[in-house]
Amino acid sequence: MKIAKNYINGEWKAPTGGHSQDIINPATAEVLGNVTFSSDAEVDAAAKAARAAFPEWRATPPVTRARYMFKLKQALEDRFDDAAKLCSMEVGKTLEESRGEVRRGIEVVEVMAGISTLMKGQSTEDIAAGLDCVTFRQPVGVFAAIAPFNFPFMVPLWFLPPAIATGNTFIVKPSEQVPLSQQLLFEVLDELSLPPGVVNLVNGGKDAVNGLLSHPAVNGVSFVGSTQTAKYIYSEAARHGKRVQALGGAKNFILVLPDADIPATVNALMGSCYGCAGQRCLAGSNIVTVGDAHDKLRDALLEKVRAMKTGNGLTPGVGMGAIASKAAKERILGMIDAGLKEGAKLVLDGRGVKVEGCPDGYYIGPCIFDDVTPSMRIAKEEIFGPVVNLLRVKDFEEGMRLVEDCHYANAGSIFTASGKFAREFGYRLPASMCGVNIGVAAPMASFSFGGSRSSFFGDLKAHGQESIDFYTDRKVISSRWF
Ligand code: NAD
Repeated sequence: MKIAKNYINGEWKAPTGGHSQDIINPATAEVLGNVTFSSDAEVDAAAKAARAAFPEWRATPPVTRARYMFKLKQALEDRFDDAAKLCSMEVGKTLEESRGEVRRGIEVVEVMAGISTLMKGQSTEDIAAGLDCVTFRQPVGVFAAIAPFNFPFMVPLWFLPPAIATGNTFIVKPSEQVPLSQQLLFEVLDELSLPPGVVNLVNGGKDAVNGLLSHPAVNGVSFVGSTQTAKYIYSEAARHGKRVQALGGAKNFILVLPDADIPATVNALMGSCYGCAGQRCLAGSNIVTVGDAHDKLRDALLEKVRAMKTGNGLTPGVGMGAIASKAAKERILGMIDAGLKEGAKLVLDGRGVKVEGCPDGYYIGPCIFDDVTPSMRIAKEEIFGPVVNLLRVKDFEEGMRLVEDCHYANAGSIFTASGKFAREFGYRLPASMCGVNIGVAAPMASFSFGGSRSSFFGDLKAHGQESIDFYTDRKVISSRWF
């Protein structure tokens, strides 16, 4: 039984805010630990500690800050297996998926080890007679990350490395549903002997978030979660004059043309649609089949999915793990009911799945809806579960119009052998992350991650060069010497 603690100014302390809740392993429904929310005074202490640490950290040479990235990378490698196992226990995904999550987090640290080069500015000599201009990238101050439940280890690592490598100080507010993965990350950070206050952890729910959004010491916020919360964070942070990047929910389309390589497409769809039991912002959800791609794809997908085992993510041979919480399971079952009521045909029904040895775990086996039409709720709203919708269209143009009409725009993929259609798909796709014969179009850490429309509020996205822009101010110094 673990108690989630805060890490403020280099010290671990149990939060004292009053409300507390159990941390549940969704694979078994066993209690892993407990989290108490932070009081207003604890959120205030974290913001003040980060503010106090900023001047010295800002003046620390980038090459020294880069060395902390090298140390962090090695310390994370040393705890790799512990982190992956804990992540599976907290959120229910398979060990392989958790290993992928931890690896993706480490990759951001690796890229930010190049901070001395990444944050270089620009200069022009003689911009007017005897006058030179230099642009420096300067850290802004204190940033906070507010994280979702589905990638409890990785998502804060999208933000913390670029923020502190550029010279800012940082506060993480993990999802209250899964706070233990961040305990482990902060145990690792604690070993690095960073100056106190450079990184801080506060547990809690929306009160802690509101405390950070309105705190005068906090300069900016990086958020990942549902669209509803992302919109709120975006407007509240802006109202308080803060920088903000808010990554929201998704409804990802995958267009399959008749010339697609069906076995390769099905393999890609398995990872895209059922990876992390569909609880991923990049999960394929609406599979739009063009012409006679439909029957071939449906039959091959059904065969492959039927062979996949649902179970405890820590059990070898399990292809799909648990749903992250009881509430999420009920919500997904509600969406399946809605699909049935609107006339979609459930050709694979995972609702009755039983997992040996885990009678109380929160499971839904893989589901496939056929005959889905664009106006159905299941085709329009984020399901965030292991449910695939098959929609038929007559040609590329009709499929493309469905994709273009969606107000979510996180990711989209096309499966085809045609360069012409692949190019046109990339050109017209409203979503910012595009896959060509790729099921999960996740940009690597040296590129930026984030969508558009209702999937992203802000302009500068997570990691890559855009994160350097987000976490720095570009100061232009014009000088003339007499
Ligand atoms: P959520 O919006 O419920 O919660 C996210 C965070 O916001 C949590 O830390 C929570 O404490 C806080 N929060 C929740 N409600 C709040 C409120 N009213 N006021 C202030 N703070 C609040 O999201 P979730 O259920 O944890 O995560 C799942 C969602 O995240 C899905 O929609 C998924 O698509 C999205 N997501 C998006 C990306 C992306 O890159 N776009 C990545 C991962 C997850």
